[in-house]
Amino acid sequence: MTYQNFSLAQLQALDAAHHLHPFTDHKDLRGAGSRMIVRADGPYVYDSEGHRILDAMAGLWCVNVGYGRKELAEAAYKQMLELPYYNSFFRCSTPTPVLLAQKLAEIAPKSVNQVFYGSSGSEANDTALRLIRQFWVLEGKPEKNRVISRKMAYHGSTIAGTSLGGMSGMHDQLHGAVPNIVHVMAPYAFENAEPGESEEAFGLRAAKAVEDAILEAGADKVAAFIGEPIMGAGGVKIPPRNYWAEIQRICRKHDVLLMIDEVITGYGRTGEWFASQAYGIEPDTITTAKALTSGYQPLSALLVGDRVAETLTEKGGEFYHGYTYSGHPVACAVALANLDIIEKEGLIDRVREDTGPYLAKVLQEALGDHPLVGEVRSFGLMGAIEIVADKASRQRFEPSGHAAVVVRDHAVVSGLMMRATGDTMIMSPPLIWTRETIDTAMEMIRTALDKAAQDLL
Ligand code: PLP
Repeated sequence: MTYQNFSLAQLQALDAAHHLHPFTDHKDLRGAGSRMIVRADGPYVYDSEGHRILDAMAGLWCVNVGYGRKELAEAAYKQMLELPYYNSFFRCSTPTPVLLAQKLAEIAPKSVNQVFYGSSGSEANDTALRLIRQFWVLEGKPEKNRVISRKMAYHGSTIAGTSLGGMSGMHDQLHGAVPNIVHVMAPYAFENAEPGESEEAFGLRAAKAVEDAILEAGADKVAAFIGEPIMGAGGVKIPPRNYWAEIQRICRKHDVLLMIDEVITGYGRTGEWFASQAYGIEPDTITTAKALTSGYQPLSALLVGDRVAETLTEKGGEFYHGYTYSGHPVACAVALANLDIIEKEGLIDRVREDTGPYLAKVLQEALGDHPLVGEVRSFGLMGAIEIVADKASRQRFEPSGHAAVVVRDHAVVSGLMMRATGDTMIMSPPLIWTRETIDTAMEMIRTALDKAAQDLL
C-alpha cells in the first residue's frame, strides 16, 4: 500500500489521529491539517495536490546539495547491501565512519582532528557538554563546569540541548534545566544595540557580556562558552564582524573552552566549509549535523579539537557515553558521497564568490525599501528580513510574531517555502541555487510582502 491510495483528507485525518509533530500546537494542527510534501527534485518540493514549491529553507537548513541526488541514494543502497549496520563499541569499527572522520579532519580548522558521531545535532550537543565537562575532570579541575551561552540561541531539543539553548519558551517547559548553564545577551544589533551605537562598539559590548559572566562566576568555575557563529533558528542573527575575534580572545585569556555549534552553518552555507573558518575561530569543539548528509540520512559529527582530544587519549579512563547509531555505516557512506558532491560541484566557492554576494545585493535592492522591511541581512546563503510596522522607529506589529507569519503564509501560497521566527523572515536555501533562482525568490517575497501589507497596514 502506498500513499497514492489515500486522499489528502484521509492522510490528514490519519496524521491528526496518530502523528505528533515537532514544535507544533497540536490543537491548531488538528483544525488546519498538514500540507503533505510527497516528492522533491533539485530546489523544489511538491505537495500531494501537485503544487511546486521553491524551498528557500533547504528542508530544515539541511538539503545543501538539493533534492533528487541519485549518487546519495546509490551510496546508501550499496552500503545497506554490504553492511547495513554494525556498531563502533567494544573495539569494533566499520570503514565508512573512519573514512568520513579522516575527511572531516581534512576540511575542519587545522587544530580539529577527531570526530564523535551521533544521529542529530541535539545528540551532538549532549556529547559536547559531557565531553568538555569530562575534559576538565581529567585536567583535575572538576569544579570548572559552567557553560556560558546566549539568549535566543538554539542548540537542540533534548534536555541538554534545550538547557544550552536560550529560547525562553522552551525553558518554560523544561521544568529543571541542566545546572550551571548561564545565558547572556545575543549579538543582535537590530534589537540590542543602543541608538547611535556603532557596529564595532556593539560587538565589543556583546562580547563583554560573556566576559562579565565569566568574571561573575570566577574563571576557575567556567568550562566553556557555546555559540552558533550565526544564530540560525533564533532569526539569522549575524554578529558584528569583530565579535568572534573578541570572544576568542576572552576565552583564551580566561582558559575557557570554545564550543562552536555549526549544525546550520557547517558544510558550505557561509562560503567556507565551516563558519569558524570564515570568522577565523579556532574552536575546541564544533557541533555539526544537517548538511553533513544534506539531510538524506540522520547523522551528526561532533568535531573535537586537539587540546580536548589529547587529554582524553593521554589521560584515558572510559568516557561513558555513546549511541547505538554512533558511526552508522549507511549514514556515513551517504555523508562521504555528499561531501564529494559539494567539492566536485564547487558549491562552496559558488556561495562565497557568486550567490552569497548576489543574495546580499538583491535582498537590499529588491526588498530594502519595502514599508514592512526594517532590515535585510545575509551571510553566504543565510538571509533574514525584519518585519516592522514602522520603518523609521522599527516598531513591531502586535501581537509579536503575527506579521511574519502573515508574510510567510503569502509566500507559501505563491510557491516559496520560507520560515517566520518571531518577527523575522528567514531563508537558507540549497547551495545549488543560482542567481536566477535568487531573482525568482525575490519576486515571490516582494509579492508576499505587498499582500501582507494590504492585510496589516
Ligand atoms: N544546533 C543548532 C544550531 C541547530 O540549528 C539545531 C537544529 O536546528 C540543532 C543544534 C539541533 O539539531 P537536531 O534538530 O538535528 O537535533
